[in-house]
Amino acid sequence: MLAPFFQFAQLCDRVASTTKKLEKRDLISDYLRGLSLEDAARAALYLAGTPFTETDRRALNTGGALLSRAVAEVTGADRAAMHAAYRRHGDLGAAAEDLLAKHKTVPPALTLGELESTFEAIAAARGPAAKLPLVLHLLRRAQPMEAKFILKLMLGDMRIGVKQSLVEDAIAAAWHAAAGAVRHAAMLTGSLPEVVAMAASGTLAQARMRLFHPLGVMLASPVASVEEAIKRFAEEIAAEEHAQPAPGQPFLARALIEDKYDGIRAQLHCGDQSQPGHVGLFSRSREDLSEAFPELIHAFAAMPEPAILDGEILAWNPTNARALPFTALQQRIGRKHVTPEMQRTVPIVFMAFDVLYLAGDLLLDLPLAQRRQRLEAFIAQHGAVAHTSASQGQSILFREPESEQRDGFPRLVLAPATRLRTADQLDRAYDEARARGNEGVMLKALASTYQPGRRGLAWLKLKRELATLDVVVTGVEFGHGKRAGVLSDYTFAVRDGDELKNVGKAYSGLTDAQILELTGFFQQHTIEDFGGFRTVEPLKVLEVAFNNVMRSDRHNSGFALRFPRILRIRDDKPIKEIDTLARVEEIYNAQPDRPVENP
Ligand code: AMP
Repeated sequence: MLAPFFQFAQLCDRVASTTKKLEKRDLISDYLRGLSLEDAARAALYLAGTPFTETDRRALNTGGALLSRAVAEVTGADRAAMHAAYRRHGDLGAAAEDLLAKHKTVPPALTLGELESTFEAIAAARGPAAKLPLVLHLLRRAQPMEAKFILKLMLGDMRIGVKQSLVEDAIAAAWHAAAGAVRHAAMLTGSLPEVVAMAASGTLAQARMRLFHPLGVMLASPVASVEEAIKRFAEEIAAEEHAQPAPGQPFLARALIEDKYDGIRAQLHCGDQSQPGHVGLFSRSREDLSEAFPELIHAFAAMPEPAILDGEILAWNPTNARALPFTALQQRIGRKHVTPEMQRTVPIVFMAFDVLYLAGDLLLDLPLAQRRQRLEAFIAQHGAVAHTSASQGQSILFREPESEQRDGFPRLVLAPATRLRTADQLDRAYDEARARGNEGVMLKALASTYQPGRRGLAWLKLKRELATLDVVVTGVEFGHGKRAGVLSDYTFAVRDGDELKNVGKAYSGLTDAQILELTGFFQQHTIEDFGGFRTVEPLKVLEVAFNNVMRSDRHNSGFALRFPRILRIRDDKPIKEIDTLARVEEIYNAQPDRPVENP
């Protein structure tokens, strides 16, 4: 029996309607068990929210614009109707369901298999003009609820409260396998369809590591002072050893201290001799970064040993071997085509600080101390492979002696790491890291294993907030997704004499309830409504934190705060007491690397 897609959509609706994880898992495992293995494999993949597996290099490449166009065409909705439906739901899939409900309905006829073959055809079609008719054909044959989930799946965001780990649990429950074994096989193969087949045939133990699909990255918990770092670290070690925390300096010696770099976290896969020359580069959110950094792909292509490295992509000054400010790297982000000229003006390196896989062994369960040794040995042995020749990567900004030019510079850099004993040393390490233009320092427990996707206390990032600013909201916008119906994006200003000058825009840090309350407030205090953007009376004072201040033309102050976060609403603070432009300038000047946006 071919599995109807309608049943899949119904399942998704039911799964979305409960918040209980166990209930979700049982719904999914019952459903999977009732399908043929082929269809269960497809359904498992789609439930996790992706049309293709992570090892599959195909992609639909149907962005929101193309899909909106398809929805408008199928439903006959004009711009205003599309806009209103989107605003009501904050999601194109749900908007399409709504718009289609007013239409004639076709009897349910789609199958999971047909969806799979259509996705394959869409991925193979070159360009929007070729893809659009395939999308239209699919939507025309879909029930409103089917269209909703087709679109969500195509956009890669199902919003049914199901993560891949829950699908893994459901697979385990469906075929009476151990959840840990399913999880491990999924991590090794990067393919839920294969995991379904293995779980059903009892062969999970035979799963083998495959490169070129991203593993989850391990993250760090923030600390804001040396004292806090030492205290948290002592607690972590005590917990590991089931001992009483007795904060003291010896604990520090059990950590590795590295600089915290301000680049792009990346996982690099290379050296698979069965796919010669192939290199994978993935962001922390599992996006493929290889198009943006062709010189790294090129540099690692000849690596003779299979490896997965964890590190940071940095814009680099090869002359003094220091990272360039993030603003330099920013010029390289989000480009489809990177010219040789850009490769020359903004040189890129991969700063490696961890190794997850080497020559057939998955190293996640080794303590950091041993992973570090393996990493050092790997770079000592193979680092020279990842050199560039002068012609493809040398910066015109950094003239090198002749001999160096011939050799180029290493694209694979080992992140320096030290071991310290005292709080004073840590304090100094922090200052030195800042002086090198880095963001702060990381403390990593030498005994800790690598925990993919976890933000625990085994890694701490010490980064003092620069300062906070008290600002006033001058403009507001509706948000996206579940915030489409509320005014959740706030442009804010500081004082400059009698004037207000905007310095940033924030949309994180407040609770849903606070945002709802502010929405009502700003609706009442709107000065001018430009559709998307509203200017509002400067009445609400916020305290914001941020990573740094950069010079920017984006706002009329000439400055922009980077990564601003709202710490609290300062209803206790009158506007005449908010911070000034002079204060912003002072903070700007106190930064070791004074960033400039789009210099
Ligand atoms: P956050 O994004 O604030 O959670 O900070 C974690 C980020 O720090 C990671 O995603 C990395 O990009 C970055 N990072 C910078 N230097 C290091 C390092 N030496 N070790 C681990 N992560 C680092």
